[in-house]
Amino acid sequence: MVETIAFIGLGNMGGPMAANLVKAGYPVRGFDLSEPARKAATENGITLCESAAQAVGGATIVITMLPAGHHVLSVWSELAEAVGKGTLLIDCSTIDVDSARKSHALAYEAGYLSLDAPVSGGTTGASAATLTFMVGGEPDALNRGRPVLEAMGRRVVHCGSAGAGQAAKICNNMILGITMAGVCEAFVLGEKLGVSHQALFDVASTSSGQCWAISTNCPVPGPVPTSPANRDYKPGFAAALMLKDMRLSQEAAKSTGAATALGAHATELYELFDQLGHGGEDFSSIINHIRDKAS
Ligand code: NAD
Repeated sequence: MVETIAFIGLGNMGGPMAANLVKAGYPVRGFDLSEPARKAATENGITLCESAAQAVGGATIVITMLPAGHHVLSVWSELAEAVGKGTLLIDCSTIDVDSARKSHALAYEAGYLSLDAPVSGGTTGASAATLTFMVGGEPDALNRGRPVLEAMGRRVVHCGSAGAGQAAKICNNMILGITMAGVCEAFVLGEKLGVSHQALFDVASTSSGQCWAISTNCPVPGPVPTSPANRDYKPGFAAALMLKDMRLSQEAAKSTGAATALGAHATELYELFDQLGHGGEDFSSIINHIRDKAS
């Protein structure tokens, strides 16, 4: 069966993801509230609709890629009436685990299959169809959705039942937020000790300090020519989005009673950085804030 896809939320991530589905040969019907997103979608071969309800008409798979949990719950509730029985609903947004579980429950009560499938890989991965999907939901839902996810990404990891994809995503990004802060502190300490950026990179990127924050997204210009530090910290992964994910991790830690002292501290750092007006910069630019504090 050729699936017909409705794609709701055609922004920085959803736009290129939907375009890759068109490239893979799927008929894609789309809806977004924003005019620039709508225009780009039309140019990419997506059949533009006037509402989410209109977009899901005739669709066998519905994908949402929206800012936050309340957007997803509101759109999924609105669609509960409009979607045909047996439809698979997939949410690829990064949202809180509670909202993800509620959206699965909504789908289950209405007789639909559902997956939470947040992504990592950013806008570059969305355009190049190299995203990693972290999936929560039942195996039959994943079997049905897998070919569609594979048309937008390189890896699909089944993390468990409803909400497990969001849980894995939040844990992963808490590691990222903490490690970036640690790498930045180490480079600032290295500067004070007279170690060059290149020398510290050569050691840490091949030793036990190795991590994505240093080997791919190195926060100082030079050692990794493609890292945002070389283009005045143009994202990349904006500090405001990092803060959003850190806050999600802390909400989850609070609701489960997990001890995440480092996560809490890193969240405070990104909060302050955002309040100082740097939310639009790549999150690695937090090194400048750490350097200023140190001097
Ligand atoms: P974005 O703001 O560019 O896109 C969101 C889109 O949703 C917007 O175009 C907006 O108009 C649309 N929208 C909002 N409410 C809507 C509604 N009710 N109906 C239809 N459209 C609606 O954001 P993005 O960068 O594409 O991120 C989307 C999600 O992906 C977020 O949850 C984000 O955390 C996550 N994410 C983003 C990145 C990244 O690097 N940008 C990486 C991984 C995950």
